[in-house]
Amino acid sequence: MKNQTLPFKGQCLCGQITYEVDQIEPDMGHCHCSMCRKFHGAAFATFGEAKAENFRFTKGADKLKVYEAENGTKRTFCENCGSSLLFEASDSTGKLVEFTLGTLESPIPLKPDAHIFTKFKAQWYEITDDLPQFDEGRE
Ligand SMILES: [Zn+2]
Ligand SMILES: [Zn+2]
Repeated sequence: MKNQTLPFKGQCLCGQITYEVDQIEPDMGHCHCSMCRKFHGAAFATFGEAKAENFRFTKGADKLKVYEAENGTKRTFCENCGSSLLFEASDSTGKLVEFTLGTLESPIPLKPDAHIFTKFKAQWYEITDDLPQFDEGRE
């Protein structure tokens, strides 16, 4: 891909938190679960994955806040502007980081490859692309 420089860079809305990603793993899903919908205030949330050693915050790590839901999932966001930055499953080993694709600034060579948790999708939203759909997580 042209004009693609590494590492990929991202930041929250206010710019107080910045991060870099050296390599993005292939699983990149649109999550329609009700928690992602509420946390993002949107029809769905899109996450990329990176190995932990390939992801780092470069500025503003002290501005990160974590919300832990009753089911043990953790969502990391900017305490100043509220941007959603990371998702962590309750059974996460910490080897993979799930970050919000919407906060990336850099062009990337991959595209989202699936819709997940479509069983819970917003009734008012219709999926109109041909990506595979999973009722819950990927099998
Ligand atoms: Zn911010
Ligand atoms: Zn979700």
